[in-house]
Amino acid sequence: MTIKAVPGTRDILPEEIPAWRRIEEAAHRLFARYGYRELRTPVFEETELFARGIGGETDIVAKEMYTFEDRDGSSLTLRPEATAGIVRSVIENHLFQSDPALKVYALGPMFRRERPQKGRYRQFHQVDVEAFGLQSPQVDAEVVELAVGFLEACGIAEYEVVLNSVGDPACRPPYVETLRQALRANLTRLGPDSQRRTETNPLRVLDSKVPEEQELIAALPRILEHLCPACREHFEEVRRQLDLLGIRYRVDHRLVRGLDYYMRTTFEVTSGALGAQNSLLGGGRYDGLVKELGGPDLGGIGFAAGMERIVLAMPAREAERRCDVFLMPLAAAAFDEALRLQRGLRQAGARVLLDPEGRSFKSRMKLADKLGARYVAIRGEEEMKKGVWRVRDRAGSTQDDVAEGRVAQHLEEKLHG
Ligand code: AMP
Repeated sequence: MTIKAVPGTRDILPEEIPAWRRIEEAAHRLFARYGYRELRTPVFEETELFARGIGGETDIVAKEMYTFEDRDGSSLTLRPEATAGIVRSVIENHLFQSDPALKVYALGPMFRRERPQKGRYRQFHQVDVEAFGLQSPQVDAEVVELAVGFLEACGIAEYEVVLNSVGDPACRPPYVETLRQALRANLTRLGPDSQRRTETNPLRVLDSKVPEEQELIAALPRILEHLCPACREHFEEVRRQLDLLGIRYRVDHRLVRGLDYYMRTTFEVTSGALGAQNSLLGGGRYDGLVKELGGPDLGGIGFAAGMERIVLAMPAREAERRCDVFLMPLAAAAFDEALRLQRGLRQAGARVLLDPEGRSFKSRMKLADKLGARYVAIRGEEEMKKGVWRVRDRAGSTQDDVAEGRVAQHLEEKLHG
């Protein structure tokens, strides 16, 4: 029996790596322009961090965490998302003391025991952006701007930004109560999950995809009509700035985060190219979280983007060229020279390969084509006699005889010139 990858995990094969690198490079390049610095936290943490930082009522904590007992009996969990670990690190390392407007980002694998399907995995990767200590609506608008700029830098042109405000500790609790009353009055029209959530977390009923519940949900009281003046003003200013910057979005009152510390702005970016799992990234403001995890009363806002989904939504690109120069020392006496030439060209930055197995001319040529070689340099008995390398340009189908002492320079000029 051969051993296979665990269901819900996948290998990122060499052919896919250029797309992943493009995402990573876009993140490093773009986030720096907005003042973000990279932070790397461990992939496992104490289970308690996620229980407190994400909330026991969420699907993530209730049924999706990879939790295990360590040898000393402590309970550890593979991180299902990045924010909790980042907040722990910010508090533990007092990062906000040296940097009151703290902006950090992180990239890496996350683990959730979800039902695997296209675009949904048990080990997946996120790009995560978090800004702390900044309350202004300018930061909310900037984080949305950064999110769409990032997708565009990855080559994604088709997407939709969905925006909402979920209020704050002044206006949300009364709204939640109003919502609960409206749901209680219609309990018989709800399925078992929504019935339970009516008591535990009525906001999550708004997430429901159950077809029979949609009509009722459309008629429920809406958070945007229950915002307090401060939240209303904040939301209007976020929208005004997005309009000013030319960033298009759709307001959807059903986009909520069911956790207590989420407040005001929430947003999501979806792609029509993705099918059922259409969310590219999601984010929002979480001003209560740092305090909840034992830190100072510091606001926070950020987003998490799924890298697998970005790869799926990215335009296909031509395969990467693996070889600039393919060396063919056909004459046995040319082999040592080829080794030296190979080393010199590689030191000069070229991608150089040769076939050390010494196969036939035809099979070497096939290999050169397969590798996408731009130039093939051949030295057989005839070239030995003439003191040259025969350099073939695969694209132009031309060839030159180049004196042996000049071949390295000749190839470098061709490649860089
Ligand atoms: P969340 O942390 O649940 O708000 O998700 C943020 C983003 O991570 C989503 O928009 C997806 O792009 C991605 N994501 C979440 N869960 C998965 C998963 N199981 N597999 C792949 N991507 C995921």
